[in-house]
Amino acid sequence: MFRKVSHVGVAVKNLPDSIELFSKLFKINSVETEEVPDQKVRLSFFHVGDTSIELTEATAPDSPIARFIEKRGEGVHHLSFEVDDIRAEIKRLKDEGFQLIDEHPRLGAGGYWVAFIHPRSTNGVLVEISQKATSKATER
Ligand code: ZN
Repeated sequence: MFRKVSHVGVAVKNLPDSIELFSKLFKINSVETEEVPDQKVRLSFFHVGDTSIELTEATAPDSPIARFIEKRGEGVHHLSFEVDDIRAEIKRLKDEGFQLIDEHPRLGAGGYWVAFIHPRSTNGVLVEISQKATSKATER
């Protein structure tokens, strides 16, 4: 089951510049930054109310974020929804005919299992589903 919008992912060219900009926008100074080498990205999270904004910068020219910015420029990259059973959702979405980028959950930022749905099957919106990594999604 989809629970809530976990975060909105924003692709940026320069993370320090964008942290400064969004700190000013939200009037929030605390930001959590981490790197996901697997995806060749560096991420910063701003917690805004019940949700978060995830700023994402590429750490290599062949990062998916670098390719996204090359094609479409900076801006909204994906919507992330928290689900209670990521494996069950992957199976359900596949059965419904959605095109999954990740057929198995992989470890994303912030201790979450994540899987992406291809924007080709969701009206151009890159959708991420995520589940806190403390639960049974770790079992194979
Ligand atoms: Zn995300």
